[in-house]
Amino acid sequence: MDKKKMIGDLLHDNGLKKTPIRTEMLELFMNHDFALSASDIVSKMKAGHDRVTVYRALASFEEHGILHKASEDGQGVKYALCGHSCPDETHADRHAHFICDECHQTYCLEEVEVPEVEVSEDFSVNKVNYTLSGVCKECNVFSQS
Ligand SMILES: [Zn+2]
Ligand SMILES: [Zn+2]
Ligand SMILES: [Zn+2]
Repeated sequence: MDKKKMIGDLLHDNGLKKTPIRTEMLELFMNHDFALSASDIVSKMKAGHDRVTVYRALASFEEHGILHKASEDGQGVKYALCGHSCPDETHADRHAHFICDECHQTYCLEEVEVPEVEVSEDFSVNKVNYTLSGVCKECNVFSQS
């Protein structure tokens, strides 16, 4: 299926109006296999959009189960596309994330499921973060050649 159509469907299914900025942002996410932060998006977008608009769009994508938070570092939160349609508010993404020590990109490890963790009943868990780090496939290629 072509990307434009996929994006249109994704927005429509989530009751979001199809605006040029939303379309362009989702296109960026589809064209990259690693997570993107708000500043990555601002720098990659064709026209200069102000940060506030980008932040607002990211928040609404997260709320609608289109994007999830993949990692957070000094440069801010990085988002990635949800692999399957997550319900609103509660994300069903239970995969681990991989942060590359060389290029600092964050990848979703869709096939690596976060193990079930038992905690005492004194605590109630809202969110589990499972992050691995090392050298990603892109950086591995360079070091081998
Ligand atoms: Zn999700
Ligand atoms: Zn890398
Ligand atoms: Zn992810």
